Amino acid sequence: GPRSATARGSRRHGTPRYSATRMSTRAHGQRVLIIEDNEKNLKLARDLLRYHGFHTIEAPDAETGLRMASDSKPNIILMDIELPGMDGVTALERLRGDPAIAGIVVVAFTASVMPVDRDRFSRAGFAGIIVKPIDVAIFPRQVLAYCNDLAGDG
Ligand code: MN
Repeated sequence: GPRSATARGSRRHGTPRYSATRMSTRAHGQRVLIIEDNEKNLKLARDLLRYHGFHTIEAPDAETGLRMASDSKPNIILMDIELPGMDGVTALERLRGDPAIAGIVVVAFTASVMPVDRDRFSRAGFAGIIVKPIDVAIFPRQVLAYCNDLAGDG
């Protein structure tokens, strides 16, 4: 199909500094929407995920991200909390109110590690938290774990 480019072997050359092991097979076909206004955070997350075989789409704000979620139905959304305009918690509420996209797994993508924030994100309905700055050695596996939750490892 159109998504089999990785399986056919669009293999890159050279070894990235940040990883020794790729997970292209398992990540293949997983579509990740990254909603993040910090360009450096966005680029690092996107590059890592694409390298490991994920498909990514990106939005710099929540309004754009919600439109992209409706249009593209990603498997998972990484949602920054502090965003220009609508914040990530409000965006999650909006998403849950739209039956077409309410079921998408949404992970808080945040630098907030305070227990009070973790509780707030959990109550808001985030599936979990991936803390920034990301740990490049485990980030793709963290994302894939949430994808597998959604897919029932299918
Ligand atoms: Mn931000």
